[in-house]
Amino acid sequence: MVDYSLARRATIASVRRGLTPSADVCDAHPELMRAARNIGEERDAPCPICSHRSMRWVRYVFGDELKSNSGRVVYPLTWLRELVDRYDQFTCYVVECCIDCGWNHLLRAYAAGRRYRSPAPAAGLRHRV
Ligand SMILES: [Zn+2]
Repeated sequence: MVDYSLARRATIASVRRGLTPSADVCDAHPELMRAARNIGEERDAPCPICSHRSMRWVRYVFGDELKSNSGRVVYPLTWLRELVDRYDQFTCYVVECCIDCGWNHLLRAYAAGRRYRSPAPAAGLRHRV
């Protein structure tokens, strides 16, 4: 898993110090904004830029094996379980997006699929994804 929280913190600090204009980081693509608004997972945390409680998580999956599903937004979340059962390997990206100001940042990327399934009961995975 690749964790992008350090980069996220650095970006936020740069905005707060006035080194980076907020317009540069509140630039969510219209499709990301639409996904966040309509099917994003609500987060109980204030936006680091506008402080509004309008944060959403959007998950994307990418991988050669996924073919036409590569690049798609994960919705509903149970679909991710189906992909894990069906494919050996793909990458899941979790992006946070504020539906108010457009702040967006990649939070993490992780490998998923049959190859990475834990031997523990599937219930464990359900809570993790
Ligand atoms: Zn915001």
